[in-house]
Amino acid sequence: MHMLKKFWSVLTAIPIYLLLALKMPKWFICAINKIRRGFLWKGSKDVNGGCCLVASLAWEKIMRLIDLGGLGILNLEVMGWALQMLWLCGNDTLFRSSRWLLGKSIEELAPNVFRTVTYLELWDAISDVHLSSSADIHRWKFESSGFFSSRSAYKAFFVGAIKFEPWKRLWKSWAPNKCMIFLWLAVRNRCWTVDRLQKRELPHPDYCLLCDQEEKNIQHVLTSCVFARKSWRKVQKHSKKEFNSLVILGAWFLWKHRNSCVFAGSAPNIQIAIQAFKDEANLWIAGGAKGVAGLQLVRIS
Ligand SMILES: [Zn+2]
Repeated sequence: MHMLKKFWSVLTAIPIYLLLALKMPKWFICAINKIRRGFLWKGSKDVNGGCCLVASLAWEKIMRLIDLGGLGILNLEVMGWALQMLWLCGNDTLFRSSRWLLGKSIEELAPNVFRTVTYLELWDAISDVHLSSSADIHRWKFESSGFFSSRSAYKAFFVGAIKFEPWKRLWKSWAPNKCMIFLWLAVRNRCWTVDRLQKRELPHPDYCLLCDQEEKNIQHVLTSCVFARKSWRKVQKHSKKEFNSLVILGAWFLWKHRNSCVFAGSAPNIQIAIQAFKDEANLWIAGGAKGVAGLQLVRIS
């Protein structure tokens, strides 16, 4: 995630200062997002919609938190709301209009407070509340300290969203960004396999070039294809972060091998694919992924 963090810090931190003080118009947020997208997909400020696999995903989904299936790219509009809530939290707690009772204000809970029935209902609701003479303060329920933070306010806007279960196994691995993003796309079925090419009436192979069977989707290429199953059998099972990294690497090399067969006319060769996998794993080890070295995962028969 190093590249993504760098991307965030440079292109996202700048507008945050403005968002803290001002409500930015939509066109401004769109313009900044266009630059951010361009940088993410192409490393430049210009980007066209179809230039990359990732571009086929809605920007809104990409801006979700990583544990919710996004890339954790900051949603500037939501962050603007979260930052500006800071000003609201600085105000005094007011008996009638602050939301201090059952998560609501007295005005919301009992708009007709002066009517007898509503008054009695309010009396009931307030019976367990002990009022004191000291000044009231706001307690922010999304932080254990009770103090407001824009970070927790930003996360609170995603409460109720569906979790992306494999996020730790994916993003906390040793794998480089290109491999992690590939697998993230594969989980979302966003790789250009036959099913997607067919749907868009784009040229596509008639069958899987690795096994001569039908290539339905990315799941076939990575798991159910005979070539993939033979490859995975060479990887021993460990339930560690390092193992997750090598699964990501294995998926990446299966995809690369498939693409070399489709686009370069290469013949499928399991020894070549596994050797490339081993060479890359050795590069990771040389680059500091020491845990991978201890696993002795690959045995070439
Ligand atoms: Zn196949």
